[in-house]
Amino acid sequence: MTTAYPEKLQLHIDGEWVDIGNRAGIDVVNPATGATISILPKAGASDLDRALDAAAQAWSVWRDTPVAQRAAILHKAADLMRERAKAIGALMTLEQGKPLAQAVGEVMGAAGQLDVMAEEAKRCYGRVLVRQPGENSFVKYQPVGPVAAFSPWNFPVFTAIRKVAPALAAGCPIILKPAEETPASPLEMQRCLVDAGLPAGVMQTVYGDPAQVSEHLIASNVIQKISFTGSVPVGKHLMKLAAEGLKRTTMELGGHAPVLIFDDCDLEKTLDMVTTGKFRNAGQVCVSPTRFYVQQGIYDAFTRGFAERAAKVSVGDGSEGGVDMGPLANPRRPDAMARLISDAKSAGADVALGGERGEANGGFFYQPTVLTNVPTEAMIMNEEPFGPVAAMQPFATLDEAIEQANRLPLGLAAYAFTTHLRTANLVGDAIESGMVAINNLTVSPGDAPFGGVKHSGHGSEDGPDGLKAYMVTKAIHQA
Ligand code: NAD
Repeated sequence: MTTAYPEKLQLHIDGEWVDIGNRAGIDVVNPATGATISILPKAGASDLDRALDAAAQAWSVWRDTPVAQRAAILHKAADLMRERAKAIGALMTLEQGKPLAQAVGEVMGAAGQLDVMAEEAKRCYGRVLVRQPGENSFVKYQPVGPVAAFSPWNFPVFTAIRKVAPALAAGCPIILKPAEETPASPLEMQRCLVDAGLPAGVMQTVYGDPAQVSEHLIASNVIQKISFTGSVPVGKHLMKLAAEGLKRTTMELGGHAPVLIFDDCDLEKTLDMVTTGKFRNAGQVCVSPTRFYVQQGIYDAFTRGFAERAAKVSVGDGSEGGVDMGPLANPRRPDAMARLISDAKSAGADVALGGERGEANGGFFYQPTVLTNVPTEAMIMNEEPFGPVAAMQPFATLDEAIEQANRLPLGLAAYAFTTHLRTANLVGDAIESGMVAINNLTVSPGDAPFGGVKHSGHGSEDGPDGLKAYMVTKAIHQA
């Protein structure tokens, strides 16, 4: 079955699907071919005001809707997403480029997040404080209010559901602005929630000029909370806008994950794991393993084994079978790869594999690339590559490896591979990042806090912490 990409896309405002009409439009491009596949309406100021009014109306209804009823709608939407996962995944592949199996997996994972948050909301217990007989003090959690959320193009559905699911579960209406480059799959996610019975205005999806939309929504008195996933500069900008209204923020701003490979690791198993992880979604993953620090004793064997495995990654149009890695999501990414790799070569790095743009055919392809002996001052050791390139450097001691891992202002995910328990414990404690995975690459299981420290942002998504991000704490004292 082939899924056709819709020729025209819509916005979803106040329970209505809004066509382009006389609005300006944005072209949507298939990154595997470079061809324009659809047109997306841009919300204007009056559309955004309408969405804000609808969110304000919905707030009074949704916050008082019993949690069991909210949860039932989220579970129903999760079932619909699972039923429609293949079709939604096919749209995602056409707009984002990732292989179909990864796209379908993402939709299934997003459905799971709706289930998780529906149940978390039921368990959002408060506290009763110890008082004299006849007196009571309670602590309870209440929804923060209408949310404006901005999600990116690398995981069009999963990064969005990370905001939508907890907001809705907590009792908050949400206006979502996903990335304009990958609009159809988030719209289908919206459709699942509508079809599951979500009242009008509780969730709305808008697209437009990102700077105009965010400025307009964040300035509104209706919006009480901002959640953003994307780059550090945009995160800083949105925080400044939020500061004007003293609004709460959750910021997930990417990373540059160090991977510490110790001499005592299980080499073959580690290599299988990290090469698969590196090229997932063509490396356009905020927790992608990127800076490989490999202990001297196994450096040659590791870099050789990595390059051998990376050479077997099959690159092509993600809609076709047998493809491990699709194109990059937009033309900015291969340009960024070319710039970083050329700089690394000038700085003295060796190219063990790849290093060139891929077979183009109009698409935005880049070869899986392995750089070895990369000097610390090379840009790629300092700037998030967000692409299919692994940069490697040898180290001698544990302290040296930790110093390298903590050298950057970023701190989202970090990885270590060792069979030595004490090394694992020391690394887990010493690395400055929101998440550390040891002997595996799983930092996003859904029930654990997902978020960074330092310039990688603040606040956690997923699990109980992710739900609380959409709630305020209230103390009530009765005498
Ligand atoms: P960018 O900084 O232009 O945009 C990043 C995201 O923010 C996009 O989704 C974009 O639509 C949105 N955005 C941009 N300006 C905005 C504004 N004023 N208000 C609201 N949203 C806005 O960069 P890009 O070229 O799309 O990606 C470049 C870098 O961003 C990547 O190399 C990576 O470091 C980072 N990024 C991180 C994630 C993540 O998961 N943390 C996702 C996508 C991109």
